[in-house]
Amino acid sequence: MRVIVTGGAGFLGSHLCDALLERGDSVVCVDDLSTGRRDNLRHLADHPAFRFVEHDVTQGLYVPGPVDAVAHLASPASPPDYLQRPLQTPAAGSHGTEHALRLARRHGARFLLASTSEVYGSPSVHPQPEEYWGHVNPIGPRSVHDEAKRFAEALTMAHARSLDTNAGIVRIFDTYGPRMSAHDGRVVTNFITQALDGVPLTVYGGTQTRSFCYVDDLVRGLVAMLDSTETGPVNLGNPQERTVLELAELIRGLTGSRSPLHHRPVPQDDPPRHRPVIDRAARTLGWSPTVGLEEGLRRTLAWFAGRPEKPRDVALASIER
Ligand code: NAD
Ligand code: UDP
Repeated sequence: MRVIVTGGAGFLGSHLCDALLERGDSVVCVDDLSTGRRDNLRHLADHPAFRFVEHDVTQGLYVPGPVDAVAHLASPASPPDYLQRPLQTPAAGSHGTEHALRLARRHGARFLLASTSEVYGSPSVHPQPEEYWGHVNPIGPRSVHDEAKRFAEALTMAHARSLDTNAGIVRIFDTYGPRMSAHDGRVVTNFITQALDGVPLTVYGGTQTRSFCYVDDLVRGLVAMLDSTETGPVNLGNPQERTVLELAELIRGLTGSRSPLHHRPVPQDDPPRHRPVIDRAARTLGWSPTVGLEEGLRRTLAWFAGRPEKPRDVALASIER
């Protein structure tokens, strides 16, 4: 297959490029490098089946040559990233998704939308099955991301229904692993870099939960969804749910860090709990996660510990939310 990966210089996108190339596909990565990094793709620079195009997908998307699939991941994803980009983020979900869908349509290609657990917002149903419609504040600060993804889902379904596009939607729950940006301000990166630097771990609230999935598991799910004709939406995530405080203690234990916990208020509209029901992924894709949180964190820690890049002032990344 020749696959177009938008957002392929980012954390998840770069791992997806790797997985596709490893099995023999050719890949065109389209990314504006707004939150992604060339560094994530450096190892692919001389790969004969890989091409990188620096481009903003909100401005249009034309790729010469055959296209068998379009995986649309381009969007700011971490809360500090999208809160700092309140206009670019909805544009990526609306114009970006429209352009990616049109590219797929022109080529009769499979289309995959990387949606998110954030479409469930602060859920009144727990854990979250795909049938649940969600509970999102449409005008809160996080809406630039959450509503953009909800709109992207609606647009994808409209193309699937009215234009017969072979489209699929995955809802990704919090995923972590090597190549996360040390500056993204997400909880796993903040806690890891803070623990490694010996500075306080910034705990916002602490009793809220997330379900953390290791990147290799997640990417296996993305590839399975690309290969299927399933429309979904399909939840992809690891149902092992932890509180933020439990995560902090786990990372402190794994690093042997004596960093204290620095308690801060919970940000506005921060979802109190997220856990996926993954029966649909198991049934339709034969997918389930295999890497537990402790093992995944060990692998992630090993990668962060080996990095020359010094984390920026992490407290700053935290304040920016
Ligand atoms: P990331 O920030 O590392 O990657 C996003 C990539 O998209 C970056 O490389 C960025 O430069 C690129 N991008 C952003 N706007 C663009 C534009 N207009 N044109 C071209 N490229 C653009 O984030 P990630 O964690 O790898 O997330 C990838 C996708 O998966 C996102 O759509 C995100 O919403 C979704 N997702 C991720 C998670 C997670 O836990 N990592 C959870 C739910 C959903
Ligand atoms: N969080 C925290 N400390 C941090 C960063 C995040 O306690 O330094 C909390 C945040 O308020 C949220 C959870 O951790 O409840 C997950 O945040 P993240 O930004 O990783 O992703 P989200 O699931 O909110 O998109």
